[in-house]
Amino acid sequence: MTDETMADKELEDHVVTTIDAPVFFDVDETLVLHRWPKELNSKEMIIMMPGETSFAYAVVPHQPHIDQLIKHYERGCKIYVWSQGGEDWAEEVIDALGLKKYVTACMTKPVWIYDDIPMANWLPDTYRVYMDPVDGHHTKQHTEIGDDEFKKISLIRKLHRELLQARAKIAELQEEK
Ligand SMILES: [Mg+2]
Repeated sequence: MTDETMADKELEDHVVTTIDAPVFFDVDETLVLHRWPKELNSKEMIIMMPGETSFAYAVVPHQPHIDQLIKHYERGCKIYVWSQGGEDWAEEVIDALGLKKYVTACMTKPVWIYDDIPMANWLPDTYRVYMDPVDGHHTKQHTEIGDDEFKKISLIRKLHRELLQARAKIAELQEEK
């Protein structure tokens, strides 16, 4: 059996090696797709940016991963959802997808990890799961999201964070008056 089929089998059998079996889900292109195959056009939904009434993203839920999230929860796993887009964005998406009751915590993805053991030693890539959004088959292929698209999303997030900070500053100054 290859490492990969073994990992698939362990996932199927729900082999748990740690005490509370945490399972981590990414947000963008994992729980929601910003780019989707046309077969999924009818699933399009709008998710507001945190704290906004007019800024929004059009996305499509990645149903095979959402089904897995619920399955893991039902088997007693703790579900964590993390995103490079930030904790607030992760929470917004979980709320919009109606998954709140399954999720222990949302967080921003780490930028540094202090650990004596390299991550690849305790979480080899064979335990990274990615399923095709249409047929749910296991694949390591992710939906192609071009560099430009990624840069655009990152820039929007950065500007949005700055906007929120500026608003908070204005509110603070108004309070001082
Ligand atoms: Mg992602």
